[in-house]
Amino acid sequence: MIIKLLDIPPEGLNLSISISSDEFEISSKYEIIEDPVKFDGNVKLMSSGCLVSGHLKGSWKLSCARCLKFFTLPVDGKFRVFFNRNFNKDTDSILELTQEQLEEKELNSNEINLTEIIREEMILRIPMKPICEGTCKGLCPSCGQDLNIASCNCEKNAVNPQFAKLKQFLQK
Ligand SMILES: [Zn+2]
Ligand SMILES: [Zn+2]
Repeated sequence: MIIKLLDIPPEGLNLSISISSDEFEISSKYEIIEDPVKFDGNVKLMSSGCLVSGHLKGSWKLSCARCLKFFTLPVDGKFRVFFNRNFNKDTDSILELTQEQLEEKELNSNEINLTEIIREEMILRIPMKPICEGTCKGLCPSCGQDLNIASCNCEKNAVNPQFAKLKQFLQK
């Protein structure tokens, strides 16, 4: 969804939209956005750019870093992104905003792509190592047995290097 800055009224643009997952074009097989992603928020013009703030609600389907099984990670949170026309210039333009946490990006055209902003916000919320449950026991590094389902008879530290590599690959 493209928003032209010229179309934003002085009081700001209030938005309440649902975006279907295929609009995000996520190519990973292990990280899938579930339908739909909801955004409620506001786009406001500032003297030096444009502020997008609002609330994001959706969910990811992610592959667990320990057992590789898919699980749902709900995403529910607020964000603020300020698109600054003077991004790389040494100015205090950001000071016109309150001190609340926000991200700052360069504004280099006369429109913003809201779908792209929401896509990035969704990706930011993927943990480094997504885990299905804190108690997940993972797979045996030797035989690949899902240790949440059953134990195996492998010796603890005997890692089959080939399987370890495969596991690393799958986690990318
Ligand atoms: Zn797991
Ligand atoms: Zn084993």
